[in-house]
Amino acid sequence: MKFNRLRLSGFKSFVDPTDLIIEPGLTGVVGPNGCGKSNLLEAMRWVMGENSFKNMRGSGMEDVIFAGTSGRPARNHAEVVLYIDNGDRSAPAAYNDCDVIEVSRKIEREQGSTYRINGREVRARDVQLLFADASTGAHSPALVRQGQIAQLISSKPINRRRILEEAAGITGLYTRRHEAELRLKAA
Ligand code: ATP
Repeated sequence: MKFNRLRLSGFKSFVDPTDLIIEPGLTGVVGPNGCGKSNLLEAMRWVMGENSFKNMRGSGMEDVIFAGTSGRPARNHAEVVLYIDNGDRSAPAAYNDCDVIEVSRKIEREQGSTYRINGREVRARDVQLLFADASTGAHSPALVRQGQIAQLISSKPINRRRILEEAAGITGLYTRRHEAELRLKAA
């Protein structure tokens, strides 16, 4: 899965619409402490369906919305759009009719999040599955946070197993199995 661009608007410190262009090869983000580098990676995890506000370093999911500064009022919504290159038409059939797949998540105060794929409203689950099937996603070991390597080295074998399973491309199957188990329990 190849990401082309990340667009943030009203998300954390990115109050004005901001595009992070992801060209082929390495993309680096350089800046002083506290300038918003981690916010970019958080935006990427958030649009992929992250549902823990703690993982967003907040005390509620609405904390991702620009909270205002002495010179600018707070916003009422935040939106992140991730553009995925689908030039090789390898996306799942439902989204495979365009060269670029646009995944967006928007949060409004007191209204929660809405997700869209190519402009059509979908469930959080659909977005999470799209990424899990491509061996990535909000909790994917492919997205490495500060301090995570040290955590992995000292982690339990069960957690290390997730990395091997993702490399084997079976993460999507686990997500589906979990969903099926929940449905069975509810029946
Ligand atoms: P470090 O180098 O320490 O990892 P960083 O460059 O990655 O820092 P972040 O931690 O991503 O920076 O950015 C933190 C900045 O984002 C802080 O200035 C913080 O005030 C700002 N910020 C976080 N959430 C919000 C919000 N909801 N509204 C406005 N600003 C926010």
